[in-house]
Amino acid sequence: MPNPLTLYGLTPVPASSQTLLTSTPAYPPPNTAPIPILVSDTPIPNTRLATRINAYAQAHLPPPTYHHSLRVYHYGLAIKRYRFPFPDWDFSDETYFLACVLHDIGTTEENLNETEDRMDGGEEDVAPRDQAESVAEAIIRHQDLCTVGKITAVGQLLQLATIFDNTGAYADLVHPETIKDVSAHFPRLHWSDCFAATIHRENGLKPWAHTTALGEEEFPAKVLGNKLMEPYE
Ligand code: ZN
Repeated sequence: MPNPLTLYGLTPVPASSQTLLTSTPAYPPPNTAPIPILVSDTPIPNTRLATRINAYAQAHLPPPTYHHSLRVYHYGLAIKRYRFPFPDWDFSDETYFLACVLHDIGTTEENLNETEDRMDGGEEDVAPRDQAESVAEAIIRHQDLCTVGKITAVGQLLQLATIFDNTGAYADLVHPETIKDVSAHFPRLHWSDCFAATIHRENGLKPWAHTTALGEEEFPAKVLGNKLMEPYE
């Protein structure tokens, strides 16, 4: 059995995406563009745990948020294949999938403790402790964009892929055909408007919210100015 810390994505990597992208060896070599990676190339894991958590997420998330979560899954795996095909990043698709479909569950009324409980519960479809911890850690930090320190590999990929879907940053890491295919399978349903409104609402109701650290006006403006995804809104 592989090392559980690697399998569940608990490998520490730079928290700063800039440091990460400049310090991680380039593979494929520079000047090689990403290739199209279709939804069919990065299927949802068919394990009992993934199936159960997927059903839970689909039942509890509004459709635009559920679609966003699945786009983040496919975009993240496309980014990982292109830019991080290294042993340190060789975590299971299942772990990343759980982090993706649960990462915005906090925007509903449920809280994170309940999220962790969700991964216990059953008999054969429970998440091992290291895996549950990795998923919870990635979710807690998914909007915590630091310039120093470390983050788990799964947490970093979740950050890169959510920022990519929300603002269009890191466009050079994903082929346009990948975006087209993912958006066809999981339509945006005006995600940019919907998400910008959520940010304003959260910061209005909770003026201390961590989301304000991304810039109270700057972050929603970046979301609304997402030119890369505009054709698919
Ligand atoms: Zn999100």
